[in-house]
Amino acid sequence: MSYVEEVYANLQEKHVNEPEFLEAAKRVLDTIAPAVAENEEKYRSVSLLERLVEPERIVTFRVPWVDDAGKTQVNLGYRVQFNSAIGPYKGGLRFDKTVNQSVLKFLGFEQIFKNSLTGLPIGGGKGGSDFNPKGRSDAEVMRFCQSFMTELYKYIGANEDVPAGDMGVGGREIGYLYGQYKRITNLYEGVLTGKGLSFGGSLARPEATGYGLVYITDEMVKGAGKELKDKVIVVSGSGNVAQYAIQKAEQLGAKVVTCSDRNGYIYDPDGIKFDVVCEIKQQHRASLAEYVEKVPTAQFFPGEQPWGVKCDIALPCATQNEINGAAAKKLINNGCWCVAEGANMPSDADAIDAYEEARKANGFLYMPGKAANAGGVATSALEMSQNSERLSWTFEEVDSKLQGIMAGIYAKVAEAAGRYSDKDDFVTGANIAGFLKVADAMVAQGNV
Ligand code: NDP
Repeated sequence: MSYVEEVYANLQEKHVNEPEFLEAAKRVLDTIAPAVAENEEKYRSVSLLERLVEPERIVTFRVPWVDDAGKTQVNLGYRVQFNSAIGPYKGGLRFDKTVNQSVLKFLGFEQIFKNSLTGLPIGGGKGGSDFNPKGRSDAEVMRFCQSFMTELYKYIGANEDVPAGDMGVGGREIGYLYGQYKRITNLYEGVLTGKGLSFGGSLARPEATGYGLVYITDEMVKGAGKELKDKVIVVSGSGNVAQYAIQKAEQLGAKVVTCSDRNGYIYDPDGIKFDVVCEIKQQHRASLAEYVEKVPTAQFFPGEQPWGVKCDIALPCATQNEINGAAAKKLINNGCWCVAEGANMPSDADAIDAYEEARKANGFLYMPGKAANAGGVATSALEMSQNSERLSWTFEEVDSKLQGIMAGIYAKVAEAAGRYSDKDDFVTGANIAGFLKVADAMVAQGNV
C-alpha cells in the first residue's frame, strides 16, 4: 500500500460517519500522490499526511437564543481550525440546516489548499451552525449571532483565526457578529472579514468570489486559445457568488442565460439581468420565480436545475454536489466545453470522472473550486491587510490585485499540472500547488 493509501485507509476507519470529509480527503490525497511520492521518505518520517488530514482543533458548542415568540431555541455552533502552517486560520462561517462536523471538515480541508494557492499568508479553517436564517426576523438573526459569538470569541482573533461569510452569512450577519465580538473583547480589530464598509470592510469584497471566478475562467479559456466574448454561460445559484459572476461575465462580453435557487431555475435567452436578480435576492430575499414577473420573455422552471441548457461554459455557484454524473454528461453532450466552480465541491465524484474523460478525449476544461473560487478568500486577506494598516484601498486597487491573484493562481495551477500530470489537468495542478507550500511549512515547523 502506498503512503497515501495507508493514510486514507486509517482515516476512513476513524471517521466513518463523515462522508463529505472522507470524499474531500480522498480526492486530495489521490491527486497529490505524485508529489508525495517524490518526498515520501521525508514526509513519512514526520507523519506529514497523518497530521495534514486531522484538524489542529475543532470547537463545538451550543447556541441558545430566544425567538420572537419568547421560546428558547438551541442550535449547534462549530469552528474547525484545520491548519495554521502558513498563517492564521481563515475560512467562512456557514449558517444552514445541512451544517454538521463532516461538512465543515470537508470545507476546512479544502480551504487549506485554496488559501495556499492565493499566495497570501492564511491557514485553513471553517465554521458555522445548523441555524437557518431563512424566514427568521432581523431581531432573531441578531440574537442568534450574538449568542454564537459569545462562545466563538474565545477561539478567534486578528492573528489567530479570522472567519468570514459563507452560505447564510452575509453582510447583515457579519455586522451582528462583529458588534458582539467588539462588545465582549473591547477590541476594534480585523477579526472578521466581509465587514461593512463603514467598519473596516474592503471595497470589492462582495464582488470578489464571482469576479475572481470569471477572471480565472478567462485565463483558462485564453490558455486554451479561445476567448470568453460571445460565449453562452449557464450559472447556477443566485446568491453572492452567482450574482457577481453574472455581472463580470456580462462585462467581459459573454452571455449568461440561467441562474437558479432552491425553487428552480430561470432561463433568459436575452441574458440574465443582474439588477433584477439582486433586487429579488438582496432586497426582497424572495424566490427567483419573481424574475418572470419583471422579465416576461424569461421562463422559470420550478424544481429543476439548469444543466440541460445548451451552453459553452457552466459556472456552478450554488452548493455542494449540485452536478452529478448524469448532469455532467448532459452538459458535455450539449456542447459545454468548460466548467469552473464558483461553489465549493459542486461536482460530485461521477461528474468529475465525466469531465476527466472529456478532458482526455477533447480537451474539456475543468477548474476545481479551490482554485476557481479563491478570489473571495484572497480579497478577505486583502481586507485583513487594510485593517492592519488602518487604511482603505480603492475599488480599482482591490479589483486589480484580485485580477493579479487569479492570474497567479492559474499560472501556478497550470505549472504544477504540467509538471506532475497533463498540462490541462487542473485538478492535480491545484491540489499539488496548494499542498507543496503547506507541506514545506509543516516540515520546517517540526512536529506540531
Ligand atoms: P448564498 O447563500 O449567497 O447563495 C447560495 C445560492 O445557492 C442561493 O441562490 C441558494 O438558493 C442556492 N442554493 C443553496 N442550496 C441549494 C440547493 N440545495 N439547491 C439549489 N440551490 C441552492 O451563498 P454564496 O453565493 O456565498 O455561496 C455559494 C457557494 O459558493 C457555496 O458553496 C459557498 O461555499 C461557495 N463560496 C462562497 C464564497 C463567498 O465569498 N461567498 C467564497 C468561496 C466559495 P436560495 O436563494 O433559494 O437560498
